[in-house]
Amino acid sequence: MDGSAALGGGVEVTVASGDFLIRGARLFDGHRFLPPGCLLVRQGRVAALADRLTPPAGVPVLDARGSTVLPGLIDAHVHVFPGALQAALRAGVTTEVDMFADPRLIGFLRQQASSDPGAADLRSAGIGATAPGGHPTRLVELGVLPPFPTVAGPEEAESFVAARVAEGSHLLKVVLEDGTTTGHPCPTLTADTVRALVHAAHARGLLVVAHVLTQAHALAAVGAGVDGLAHLFLDEPPAPRFLEAVAHGDVFVIPTLTSLAARAGHGRGRALAADPHLGPSLDPRQRAGLEQDFPVAPSARADLGHAMSTVGRLHRAGQRILAGTDASSPGTAHGVSLHDELHLLVAAGLPTAAALAAATSAPAAALGLPDRGTLTPGTPADLVLVDGDPESDITRTRRITQVWRAGHRAT
Ligand SMILES: [Zn+2]
Repeated sequence: MDGSAALGGGVEVTVASGDFLIRGARLFDGHRFLPPGCLLVRQGRVAALADRLTPPAGVPVLDARGSTVLPGLIDAHVHVFPGALQAALRAGVTTEVDMFADPRLIGFLRQQASSDPGAADLRSAGIGATAPGGHPTRLVELGVLPPFPTVAGPEEAESFVAARVAEGSHLLKVVLEDGTTTGHPCPTLTADTVRALVHAAHARGLLVVAHVLTQAHALAAVGAGVDGLAHLFLDEPPAPRFLEAVAHGDVFVIPTLTSLAARAGHGRGRALAADPHLGPSLDPRQRAGLEQDFPVAPSARADLGHAMSTVGRLHRAGQRILAGTDASSPGTAHGVSLHDELHLLVAAGLPTAAALAAATSAPAAALGLPDRGTLTPGTPADLVLVDGDPESDITRTRRITQVWRAGHRAT
């Protein structure tokens, strides 16, 4: 499907404001690092960037030598709750893409995002397609999610997708999960049903993203024509035929390494909470999420090394990687965990500019959000100012000094 299947449109921040000039900072334009220069914001939008700019009369100048300006970060895999969008924005995440939620909650939070400059913007899959009793039905039993409709077979695909479109879903999530890596066996969608869902979604201009945690399911999803994978797998090293299938299908991949680390029993949340550059900004729910262990069953087959090597090989093969956290799954938190994901993407072999592109221009392009992810003049000034140079040290993205959403200062 072409790039016209877009998550764009929708929320316009009505509080957009702000004229200012940032001077002396390095600029990361969504693709590459530029030398120190100037960035002018007028009426909440990027107006110009250049080596030198003279501020228009009355426009305040921010001397930002020694700092770096990034486009607002995009987390391509989250699950929201009230307060999540504010937590995200404090950590420089100006857009969150939710991958399974109650549509009434999404409607409420999108309304909030349109009027609160202290909240990140939001797109959502709404209710994902899963088999009766399939993942995440356990979250209904635990009271985390209200009951939701499921898909018993290919014949239900059309009506399921039509209902999601009517609810305002921006993309379709499909769930291939039999509990192999969690140790909790559950029914899953068949390849035929996934194919029917993909057909129905593409016919309505929706992208399709698949939850997978095993290589077999990843292969099945790609074979059924999905546009993206919402996780990578932990059960096996990448097989050549997986890498070939991703290339052949031009599939984007949201590895969610920080969440996979927790699923593999090596959660990184506590270390993140102890980071002096992130810890002080945490609210109680973020801290609780970071300090939570993923319930890993002894029978689970889960090795983070498999996902790390898969990311490196996908990148070297030129495939599209998008940064996502799966916040608020155990061991993660909205906003701050994206900085851990950036760190892990670099550890997996991405150059720092490629890792940052995975959290800015790449998700904007892959998910059809043309008004963000770069410093393109005319786009809303979603910006993050960090102390230091993330090109040489990706953990510098944690040293946030200011965040703007649509030119409005959020921190
Ligand atoms: Zn998820």
